[in-house]
Amino acid sequence: MSSLNPSLRRAGPSRPSYGAYLANRSWWGRRRRWFAAHASAEGTVECAVCLRAMPERAFDLHHLDYSGVVDLGMGKWQSRERDEDLMALCRRHHDDLHALLDSDRGWASMGRRQASLEVAAVLRAEFAERVQAYLDATDTLAAPADGHRATAEERDV
Ligand SMILES: [Zn+2]
Ligand SMILES: [Zn+2]
Repeated sequence: MSSLNPSLRRAGPSRPSYGAYLANRSWWGRRRRWFAAHASAEGTVECAVCLRAMPERAFDLHHLDYSGVVDLGMGKWQSRERDEDLMALCRRHHDDLHALLDSDRGWASMGRRQASLEVAAVLRAEFAERVQAYLDATDTLAAPADGHRATAEERDV
């Protein structure tokens, strides 16, 4: 948790207690319920950026809204996040999302939910572009020198 942004510190629980929150049983129960509600038949969820399917242990849940985080004091918490307040991300893209969110005050002025959704969309587009560039490059390398394609006659035999 090296990169909680200033707006998060203002709006949400303070930084040390937020770390405690994430280690709390209440949060792990909430996380589990979120997963149960969103898991595919294969028992995975998709990263909102790279769309890779991941098992429960491999993803982070990013908070789009902290209003469901209830600090009861004495180290006790209630996790009342709505499903739509949480976004599944692989660790790598969760880090990337925070790096971008934290780097630009413009995002902060947008509100956490909107900023998170827009940053995720930017990262998703960048990721898709990189994948496409990679596919194009390997396609060129893998294509036969003569650009061979089965002709109608070849396919018929
Ligand atoms: Zn990802
Ligand atoms: Zn996050």
